[in-house]
Amino acid sequence: MPVYEFRCPVCGPFDALHTMAAVPDADLCPACGAASCRSITAPALGRDGSAPMRLLDAAARSASEPAVVSETAPGRRRTAGTPVSTNPLHRRLPRP
Ligand SMILES: [Zn+2]
Repeated sequence: MPVYEFRCPVCGPFDALHTMAAVPDADLCPACGAASCRSITAPALGRDGSAPMRLLDAAARSASEPAVVSETAPGRRRTAGTPVSTNPLHRRLPRP
């Protein structure tokens, strides 16, 4: 259920949960009970820590703080003679 922001004329902004099908244009302030209009705000995408948001956060973080790897992942050890890539087009690339 999305979080909508309402603005009480007395107390200021507050958040309320409503379904997308039944979001009201005005809600009652939980502190004073005054009618409060809904504010137009940016979507609250980063609040829940969902899997897509964790992925986006990790991608943004890796741009400035790349993870340093000191060894290969367990079970992914490469032996001599094993091609690095299975793509046949990579064999045609220039060698150093
Ligand atoms: Zn209020």
